[in-house]
Amino acid sequence: MAPINEYDYDLIVIGGGSGGLACAKEAVANGAKVACLDFVKPTPLGTKWGIGGTCVNVGCIPKKLMHQASLLGESVHEAAAYGWEIPNKEAIKPDWEKLVQSVQNHIKSVNWVTRVDLRDKKVEYINGLGFFKDPHTVVAKLKNNTERTITASKIVIAVGGRPRYPDIPGALEYGITSDDLFSLDRAPGKTLVVGAGYIGLECAGFLKGLGYESTVMVRSIVLRGFDQQMANIVADSMVERGIPFLHKTIPKSVEKTEDGRLLVKYVNTETQEEGSDVYDTVLWAIGRKGLVDDLNLDAAGIQVKADKIAVNEAEQTNVPHIYAIGDIIHGRPELTPVAIHAGRLLARRLFGGSKQIMDYTDVATTVFSPLEYACVGMAEEDAIKKYGEDNIEVFHGFYKPTEFFIPQKSVRYCYVKAVAERSGDQKVLGLHYVGPVAGEVIQGFAAAVKSGLTMKILLNTVGIHPTTAEEFTRLSITKRSGMDPTPASCCS
Ligand SMILES: Cc1cc2nc3c(=O)[nH]c(=O)nc-3n(C[C@H](O)[C@H](O)[C@H](O)COP(=O)(O)OP(=O)(O)OC[C@H]3O[C@@H](n4cnc5c(N)ncnc54)[C@H](O)[C@@H]3O)c2cc1C
Repeated sequence: MAPINEYDYDLIVIGGGSGGLACAKEAVANGAKVACLDFVKPTPLGTKWGIGGTCVNVGCIPKKLMHQASLLGESVHEAAAYGWEIPNKEAIKPDWEKLVQSVQNHIKSVNWVTRVDLRDKKVEYINGLGFFKDPHTVVAKLKNNTERTITASKIVIAVGGRPRYPDIPGALEYGITSDDLFSLDRAPGKTLVVGAGYIGLECAGFLKGLGYESTVMVRSIVLRGFDQQMANIVADSMVERGIPFLHKTIPKSVEKTEDGRLLVKYVNTETQEEGSDVYDTVLWAIGRKGLVDDLNLDAAGIQVKADKIAVNEAEQTNVPHIYAIGDIIHGRPELTPVAIHAGRLLARRLFGGSKQIMDYTDVATTVFSPLEYACVGMAEEDAIKKYGEDNIEVFHGFYKPTEFFIPQKSVRYCYVKAVAERSGDQKVLGLHYVGPVAGEVIQGFAAAVKSGLTMKILLNTVGIHPTTAEEFTRLSITKRSGMDPTPASCCS
């Protein structure tokens, strides 16, 4: 298809991450001529990376690999209980440099495959920082300080976000973020993780699993936006693993000590009590900021909401031919599959005649803490707020994974919960699960929830024994009944 009218391209995508790449490739598949710009500004520490965006380079992928590394450490110890002869298992410890090298090698291979894929699919990749010159014109600031100006009929903004730094002395000089952690050229050592969102908890969790002392500093609540009973289970399990939480605490400053370590001063916001401790690494995980500043959005007349872009249900900004997808849009889940799905559907609507819009409800997600918590649908408190306590039934139960018995692993945090309507066939509004391979378990149930799963169907589903996922089919105890949700037996 020739570009529409006078423009160089049918579509310019600004941002070559999960959403932008998916949108660009799908647009080409639907006949459009597409350019995709991607550029990574280095972190204050100087860390930078290749094409593919947050997920591949500094997000889901390295995070999952480090989570796996931490689980494997546990497995070595469990294996001994199962009869594996492991000489001197106390001496087993991770090699951080080797782990980082392996993780980075994998990322580099994904960067390479991504570039080849773009070439094969005829998406023109421009390694430049994009900004608007006018509503149809984008300038790419290239690496060699030259500029390239291109025009398009339609433009998609998919620039994602980057971690925030607190506005305190020493934050930028001495602190790092998840953008630096997965390629850190030294072992992190004793680490303070500031922030108790999922990224903070995950980093603290795998660092502890890898043998580094880690502490979580929490300003207000743990896992904001998640079911708070489940959030507290996750936090309790981390404390049991030896990860202390400094609640209601904010950092005041970071200074370098004479021996090169980091002195963090902090204050409890309730008691005003001040404290301090010395760490080897301070990791800011206090939230992420949308990358709107470099885009010169005023030149295109695009409205910003907080540091995000406001869009309608069709991902359209206030300027009709300009769209936004992924983490940069306001009020939507910041997850890779969300960005990808929205990007593909948008491309099909723009160039393939499709009318299908993205459904942002019932998106499943997982926290790898390293205890895994996965959920789909509503938190218990949200369901109560929306429907009223009398109209909600909460089914729950603890369970004991068969494979936990021999190594005598703690079963204290193996728990499932279904939040459902109280009347009729009891439509399931939310499912919550903590335990092994939580993401794998909930992914299948997410399809069922999207198809209108009811408690009647769930309890009439025959389980697969002995699995942990089968616990959802045995959820007969309601919170309202006050009955003990601890299992008496496993096989009857
Ligand atoms: C530590 C961590 C763990 C995560 N774990 C998970 C997980 O387990 N599961 C999950 O689903 N999600 C996870 N996420 C979230 C996930 O990474 C994001 O939701 C996803 O990457 C968003 O995709 P995107 O396309 O919107 O933006 P991004 O992937 O961030 O891509 C945006 C790209 O645009 C570039 N860019 C920015 N401005 C410009 C500009 N002006 N010009 C050109 N290029 C520009 C950026 O450098 C970047 O390459 C995690 C995130 C982090 C940080």
